[in-house]
Amino acid sequence: MTTELLAELIDAVECRRNFAIISHPDAGKTTLTEKLLLYGGAIHEAGSVKARRDQRNATSDWMEMEKQRGISITSTVLQFSYKDFMINLLDTPGHQDFSEDTYRTLAAADNAVMLIDAAKGLEPQTRKLFEVCKLRGLPIFTFANKMDRPCRSPLDLMDEIEQELGLQVYLVNYPIGGGDRFKGVFDRATRQVHLFERSIHGSKAAKDNIIDVDDPRLEALLEPDLYAEFCEELELVEGVCPALDLEAVHAGKMTPMFFGSAMTNFGVELFLNSFLDYGLKPTPHNSSQGEIAPTHPEFSGFVFKLQANMDPRHRDRVAFVRVCSGKFEKDMAVSHARTGKTVRLSRPQKLFAQDREVIDIAYPGDVIGLNNPGMFAIGDTIYLGSKLEYEGIPCFSPELFAFLRNPNPSKFKQFNKGVSELQEEGAVQIMYSADEAKRDPILAAVGQLQMEVVQFRLQNEYGVETQLDWLPYTVARWVDGGWEALDKVGRIFNTVVVKDMWGRPVLLFKNIWNFQQLQGDHPELELSAIAPLTT
Ligand code: GDP
Repeated sequence: MTTELLAELIDAVECRRNFAIISHPDAGKTTLTEKLLLYGGAIHEAGSVKARRDQRNATSDWMEMEKQRGISITSTVLQFSYKDFMINLLDTPGHQDFSEDTYRTLAAADNAVMLIDAAKGLEPQTRKLFEVCKLRGLPIFTFANKMDRPCRSPLDLMDEIEQELGLQVYLVNYPIGGGDRFKGVFDRATRQVHLFERSIHGSKAAKDNIIDVDDPRLEALLEPDLYAEFCEELELVEGVCPALDLEAVHAGKMTPMFFGSAMTNFGVELFLNSFLDYGLKPTPHNSSQGEIAPTHPEFSGFVFKLQANMDPRHRDRVAFVRVCSGKFEKDMAVSHARTGKTVRLSRPQKLFAQDREVIDIAYPGDVIGLNNPGMFAIGDTIYLGSKLEYEGIPCFSPELFAFLRNPNPSKFKQFNKGVSELQEEGAVQIMYSADEAKRDPILAAVGQLQMEVVQFRLQNEYGVETQLDWLPYTVARWVDGGWEALDKVGRIFNTVVVKDMWGRPVLLFKNIWNFQQLQGDHPELELSAIAPLTT
């Protein structure tokens, strides 16, 4: 490798940070995203902020569904520069939009920001997404939002995170008061208080009013009881809060925690600056050739998401690739690990929105969109040089199940084609009953939206109207050791056995208690919430 290329890669990696925000709907993700973009020259605004609005005006495709319902089905990427950094924010859709895409996006992220509503604390969607982050060992940064509204005490929130998620909390800053009495945050590293001014509805980076914690003016600025409370809590925090351990942060065991109000743009810059200091830069990825460092001289990356909606007449698809190593250049001819073919990447796109922008180069940590005439599948690796394959993206335990019926036998062919193509694309997981007489596919999804998308697209793209027959299960577990292990156990109760798309046994349970009961009855049976990877 030339020393220039190495130097270029080192530089690019040093200044890149990539993260996804995990949150429950309404916690303020859109608001925080918008405020973050204010700090960067938002060189491109795709995804939740701008494209969500634009997409509502888009015509002519199954995004019609988004338009009708005012939702965003896709998660995309926002890239912006701030100071000397290039930041990639991977957008995960919110609750109504919840689907496997949300999980897969986390496979392309190096860091996660857990955004919580300070009045509500941890909520279901946040917990689910946290579990995926934990599996991946992602560093998690916590932002407690809406401090300007009535909220829970910081110690209470901190306690909930420690107890329920098993994360140690490192308070980067600490709020003074909350709701009507929110006065600002104390930044522990600088020992300064950033005062909150209610009147500022920061559209541009708010100039914080900052004073030292020892400044006598502070006491005068706060009401006496609030000042006393602050001093007391401060002492407590300094006493109980562990020291910052960056190794633990990077291993996803300690979460730096921040307080603020995204709507008023308070605490956002403090957060961004610390995140850039403490966040992981683009990380090495495991592959068939061992760990590949981002500074590995040859380009490589993997597909984490497929988007098939741009123009139904051409079955136009975009494959989103996380760049893992080397330098990506337009018109590169790369190897496609699964098929062994060579592919020329002639029209790479940076992100997508209404106006797709063709890009010339990208570095590790970036995401590129590739036109995909049916060639790419989720988890595929592309590379230059000697062959390598990244680990792949697992299927996560679905929670919704339904038989998909085709009431019109003359549409049999289209139905089968549609189901198999949508499954390949990763729109939904398909399972089959172990009972040969029940031939209809079972759709298995993590979110309701996936079901709707499949039905909508079958009708629009394949001309097949379908019906769903819901099944009463909410938990799926793959059997380690396959059919053989299952046979050994003999007859089991409170579960049904189905086959996944690779013919492997999956147990479905009505609820988590039934699953736990089975585990108690048959501790020898090893079950997993994630499908083993197949290649
Ligand atoms: P999302 O569903 O997580 O994307 O949440 P949004 O960003 O759309 O925010 C949900 C609602 O909370 C909106 O009405 C926001 O204006 C409001 N909101 C967001 N951040 C704050 C905040 O810091 N303070 C207050 N008072 N409201 C906020």
